[in-house]
Amino acid sequence: MRKKIIAGNWKMNKDVAESVKLAEELRRTQLAPEVTAIVCPPYTSLTEAAKILNGSAIKLGAQDVSVNDDGAYTGEISIRMLKSAGCAYVIVGHSERRQYFKESDELINAKAKKVLANALIPIICVGETLQEREGGITEKVVSRQVKGVMAGIPAEDAVKVIIAYEPVWAIGTGKTASPAQAQEVHKLIRSLLTSLYSSDVAEKITTQYGGSVKPDNAKELLSQPDIDGALVGGACLKADSFAAIVNAGV
Ligand code: PEP
Repeated sequence: MRKKIIAGNWKMNKDVAESVKLAEELRRTQLAPEVTAIVCPPYTSLTEAAKILNGSAIKLGAQDVSVNDDGAYTGEISIRMLKSAGCAYVIVGHSERRQYFKESDELINAKAKKVLANALIPIICVGETLQEREGGITEKVVSRQVKGVMAGIPAEDAVKVIIAYEPVWAIGTGKTASPAQAQEVHKLIRSLLTSLYSSDVAEKITTQYGGSVKPDNAKELLSQPDIDGALVGGACLKADSFAAIVNAGV
């Protein structure tokens, strides 16, 4: 039985004072202990959020990482820095990184390996665009992405990763994939993982759905057999709505 994992991606929202306020509110909020809750603030707020969440059950994640180690990479943040800031999780390959920063499956795969090699957990994002869905190539696109991002990751590491299926057309648009549409792709992802590894490995891998998850649709999405959690954008910016989504995972 896979544990439900809900991650909140704050994106480029919340300055340090606002982040402190939200982290404090979350810390005071009742969150179901059966569900793992992760918050991913912007880099500038990680250390303050870590101090507030220290000793609570809420885990800390980052929204991206450099593929390089320390050195002359102006503007980049290394995995060692994230680890020292208190992160246990790192989102890699978010569709906004793919779209605006031209990140490829190959780069995302290298980032996921970097995260795993440093004993953190990557939340690896995949998902088709509206054009791809309407063109009937969702399965082809998601299969290519899953194979690409998992390339060369051995089974003992594969069981640790989280794969977030986020249809691009559902992110920040208010359009959610129906539970059946989301389940169909999650099932495809699990069968791909079975063919890449084994059913035993595939059954251990956590998958999240992301795309306009809100308190009122979370329960139905999270009750699908292959959906093990959610990656939440807009609805994680308020403590009560994030808590309601976490608590829908019970
Ligand atoms: C996201 O950014 O990963 C996301 C799913 O955003 P939203 O919940 O706002 O659609």
